[in-house]
Amino acid sequence: MPDKHILMVEDSPFFASVVRRKLEDQGGFEVHCAQSFQQAREHLDQHAENLFAALLDLHLPDSPRGEVVDHFVTRGIPSIVFTGEFNEDVRDVVMSKNVVDYVLKEGPDSLNEILAALERLRRNRRSRVLVVDDSASARSLVADLLRTHLYQVQEAEDADAALALLQEYPDTRLLITDFSMPGMDGVELVRKVRSGFPREKLAIIGLSAENTPLISARFIKSGANDFLRKPFLVEEFHCRIRQNMEILEYIATIREMAETDQLTGLPNRGHFIRRAKAMHSEARQRGFPVQAAILDLDRFKNINDTYGHHVGDMILRDFSARLLQRFGRTGLVCRYGGEEFALLFPGGSLPQVRTALEGFLSEVAADPATTTHGELHYTVSAGLTDDPGDSLESMLKLADATLYRAKQEGRNRLVCSCG
Ligand code: GH3
Ligand code: MG
Ligand code: MG
Repeated sequence: MPDKHILMVEDSPFFASVVRRKLEDQGGFEVHCAQSFQQAREHLDQHAENLFAALLDLHLPDSPRGEVVDHFVTRGIPSIVFTGEFNEDVRDVVMSKNVVDYVLKEGPDSLNEILAALERLRRNRRSRVLVVDDSASARSLVADLLRTHLYQVQEAEDADAALALLQEYPDTRLLITDFSMPGMDGVELVRKVRSGFPREKLAIIGLSAENTPLISARFIKSGANDFLRKPFLVEEFHCRIRQNMEILEYIATIREMAETDQLTGLPNRGHFIRRAKAMHSEARQRGFPVQAAILDLDRFKNINDTYGHHVGDMILRDFSARLLQRFGRTGLVCRYGGEEFALLFPGGSLPQVRTALEGFLSEVAADPATTTHGELHYTVSAGLTDDPGDSLESMLKLADATLYRAKQEGRNRLVCSCG
């Protein structure tokens, strides 16, 4: 099921067109419109496999009591409901139908809410969640709520089964565990899990039906992020899940920003050094070969002076994309600074690396970058070494000194300083 096609069933053409524009322009969705339950049914019959989600008006002339919602939910389509009015009765009716969410049409933020709900569904499909509870009915209640929101859900009936599943699926993002279970209880499970899964990788929510404040404190102290008392309101459950997942996403975003060069999207120098240090010392300890190279764009100042800084930036991006494409799988690549780039090849063979780099420099020289000033040729010089020195730093210094020779010998070439 691709996550692109949305069916919107809405009898107000104005509201439908506003929503459609928002979702297509900002979310990259393709929105199909139906104005009645009848039209919606026909669309579903023809396109069910292609449909990612549905946006459903609760009140349509041919679906006065929300029959359209029942129809879509029964067919397993994740459904978000619009309603013009909101009160407790509407809320009870909507939530009893097992929809993803409801949005008040006239709400100030309704368009943003719809877009955010659909984007969350997209992300949820890639997120694995593990539910641990010895009671099959309690477990499947939670699991079904999560499945409605398209999470990849796994279930375990005790702590041992949960630990085994986490080993098998270390990409699990969220663990939801009951407190009282035969054998290891939920708090003990959290303590065990936390020794291998830090907070920025896995969120944990404790559940308990017991009415004592001590349990929530014990869960949190053992490393859980959050706690929910059973029974809970469906909306509260989903809000807690959403908040905890969003925190994981924020952390991932911050980490990525800290590790990435903004202009080129390549790993930055700090990130490269951290990873390269580990590879360098492993290579030295185990006696594996390792090669390092520094590449520098030739006469780059001239490019800036002639065409302007923004054209210089385009060339840096052009070169970075080529570098990543060519060496991103075989080596560590980074923007080392300015118009300099560093590479580390762990375990490679020097003749192979040398030939690959020389070929790469020729390709770059032969194939111009496309810029706002037309096609521009540029060249690159490189210094390569396979002498690991006594530290990564000394190895990179040697590569840099070798690069200096390449510049002196005329640029647009590779010089190798080989041990
Ligand atoms: P050489 O062949 O000896 O390397 O000459 P060069 O002109 O490339 O070297 P130099 O070190 O004199 O100049 C590097 C230039 O790179 C100067 C600097 O303004 C430019 N530069 C550094 N970072 C950026 C950037 O992010 N964007 C742009 N457009 N230019 C940058
Ligand atoms: Mg340069
Ligand atoms: Mg330079």
